[in-house]
Amino acid sequence: MPSIASRYAELKRDLAAELCACGRAPGSVRIVAVTKRQPLDALREAVVLGIEEIGESYLQEARPKLRAFPKLRAHFIGHLQTNKASGIAAAFDVIQSVDRLEAGLALAKAAQALGKRLPVLLQVNISPSERFGVRPEEAVELAEALRALPSLELDGVMAIGPLTEDPDARARSFERAAALFGQVGGSTLSLGMSGDWRQAVRAGSTLIRIGTALFGPRS
Ligand SMILES: *Cc1c(COP(=O)(O)O)cnc(C)c1O
Repeated sequence: MPSIASRYAELKRDLAAELCACGRAPGSVRIVAVTKRQPLDALREAVVLGIEEIGESYLQEARPKLRAFPKLRAHFIGHLQTNKASGIAAAFDVIQSVDRLEAGLALAKAAQALGKRLPVLLQVNISPSERFGVRPEEAVELAEALRALPSLELDGVMAIGPLTEDPDARARSFERAAALFGQVGGSTLSLGMSGDWRQAVRAGSTLIRIGTALFGPRS
């Protein structure tokens, strides 16, 4: 199996080439290393390589990792359950998966109690294969409601691409996410995972969430 170091070097090289090929500025896409279901050793290796931002999907699993590496910028990318909102608001720096008002309100209350202003992204649903995310036609209304909550800082959009091998269908979904990002506003379009980040970058992604391509298969 290739090492995390060689995978990371390859990813950075491929990302730079892709940005150049589509006429985008070098360094205009951040890599968030998705460490869910990866051992602490993998995380340690990533930190040594200079990775500064990680993504986790489950609060329980993330807690010991974030305790071990408190300087990492931690992105919550899992489904946001309202009963976990206060723990999530306390443990994470960015919440990428706000997809309904109820979740936003719970987070806002938790952030206010912690005395922090919490950056969040609006998760939009651009794919029939995906369960979560606000429906595109409701995204702008939800964004406005979230912007009215002073303890949250809505900074853009997150979406999960469709489970399809059809590049045209995927491109259409990603273009939809990019258009919604234009309407919602903010500085972050979180789009693209190990299998589809190139197309996401072509569609305007500013942040890719990479697990398998960095760490290999999850346990
Ligand atoms: C697991 C996960 C990823 C990473 O997926 P890979 O295909 O392993 O890169 C990215 N985003 C979200 C929301 C995830 O749940």
